[in-house]
Amino acid sequence: MTDKSLLIVGGGPGGYAAAFLASDLGMKVTLIDEEKQLGGVCLLRGCIPSKALLHLAKLISEVKDAAQWGLSYGSPEIDLDKIRDWKSRVTGNLTGGLAQLCKQRGIERIAGRAVFKSSQSVEVAGHGSITFERAVIAVGSTPVFPADWAVAGVMDSTRALELENIPQRLLVIGGGYIGLEMGTVYAALGSRVSVVEMTDGILPGVDRDLVRILQARLRKTFDRVDLNTRVVSLQRNGASLKVVLQKGEEPEETQEFDGALAAVGRQPNTRDLGLENTRVQLDDRGFVKVDADGQTDDSAIYAVGDVIGGAMLAHKASHEGKKVVEKLAGGTEEPMHPVVPAVVFTDPEIAWCGLTESEARAQGTEIAIAKFPWGASGRASTLGRNDGTTKLIVDPHSRRILGVGLVGSGVGELISEAALAIQMKARVEDLAGTIHPHPTLSETLMEAAEVFLGKSTHQYKKTR
Ligand SMILES: Cc1cc2nc3c(=O)[nH]c(=O)nc-3n(C[C@H](O)[C@H](O)[C@H](O)COP(=O)(O)OP(=O)(O)OC[C@H]3O[C@@H](n4cnc5c(N)ncnc54)[C@H](O)[C@@H]3O)c2cc1C
Repeated sequence: MTDKSLLIVGGGPGGYAAAFLASDLGMKVTLIDEEKQLGGVCLLRGCIPSKALLHLAKLISEVKDAAQWGLSYGSPEIDLDKIRDWKSRVTGNLTGGLAQLCKQRGIERIAGRAVFKSSQSVEVAGHGSITFERAVIAVGSTPVFPADWAVAGVMDSTRALELENIPQRLLVIGGGYIGLEMGTVYAALGSRVSVVEMTDGILPGVDRDLVRILQARLRKTFDRVDLNTRVVSLQRNGASLKVVLQKGEEPEETQEFDGALAAVGRQPNTRDLGLENTRVQLDDRGFVKVDADGQTDDSAIYAVGDVIGGAMLAHKASHEGKKVVEKLAGGTEEPMHPVVPAVVFTDPEIAWCGLTESEARAQGTEIAIAKFPWGASGRASTLGRNDGTTKLIVDPHSRRILGVGLVGSGVGELISEAALAIQMKARVEDLAGTIHPHPTLSETLMEAAEVFLGKSTHQYKKTR
């Protein structure tokens, strides 16, 4: 569809990736975002600022660890102004780069809030009505946040990233990845962090054997992690926050904190978007319904990213954005979500992709598991970080790798090899037969494959 108008609403990783590819393929593209800066939640108040702060947290924790090996620096001096400034420079440079790329591609950018008026037009305050032939909704999501929590001064993740201050006692409500990552940042900067999670485990959905290794370290990082615990009420009393908690069926208990951060989920930004003026349908949680190609019930309108639900991750959004554009340009037959890796940037990190063990058990899929514990990894030993595991989920008949789960320091950088292996339908022999450089953590993938084949160099298996 060369030189036909494509309108993209939302300039996050879903929207800008779609806009850039569409322009590269010769389409006339208009990109609307209500923010002046491009990058969406990911760049402005999500992935990037949180990872910048987590990098500092990692440095602080590594310096602490180093003391036991004979390298001491003393206590870190924390200059919050400088940290905020550094974080802003990181996001500023990246969003500036996106603006430049947009300009170079000749994409028309409009800063304003778009509201759909029909299947062929949106209204943007200050810019009037804009018509389109095709549109992509990439408006993302926002934190779920009860109104009374806001009154009590509880932070959402956006505010927590501002680092207004470092509360002495911080309550993190929600043991999902955002709560744990932000808790890790505040703990490194000096807060005593307590986490409460409503369900019976942190990181619901992630294989428990991986989570257990993270939990062992979190016991040192955080003051407490209370499972099966919910916040009954919150009340601000001057500088202190009185929180009534209930654990399971136990009697309610009041605890005092200096600050709280809520990370209890995210909701799609479909409210007040004017979708009732189109044929786009929403599910009962407000997510836009799409088919396997990202097309909504309105044939002129597609949707990608957080707003369609599933894994709410930036790389999933970008992938979907590009796939939709390829489809509009004449199409590929590839499925929309081949393998979506996920990384939790705690310390240690957890990463997984493909089938998880818990999913396989729930579906009744026959699998074999091969694990290589990092106690036997030379590289992990040199880092003083043997608290890790590499786990393969394998089809016992074809020996194809169906899933990979990793926990350990820096595993976010290892998971892409696993994603490629699954995507390319690799068998354990492929992974075992690929020479991995020594000493690296990537060797643990090769060794886990060798464990499956009963010939791991660094794990003894009695055969005679
Ligand atoms: C603290 C935190 C940490 C995270 N860390 C990670 C991570 O490490 N890795 C990862 O993969 N994901 C992470 N995420 C999730 C990731 O940020 C999202 O999955 C991703 O940003 C979704 O991209 P998107 O394009 O769908 O939407 P968004 O990034 O939400 O962008 C949507 C854009 O649409 C604009 N918009 C909304 N409504 C309108 C409208 N009506 N008109 C015009 N513009 C509109 C918004 O201003 C926004 O810029 C994190 C999220 C948070 C909150």
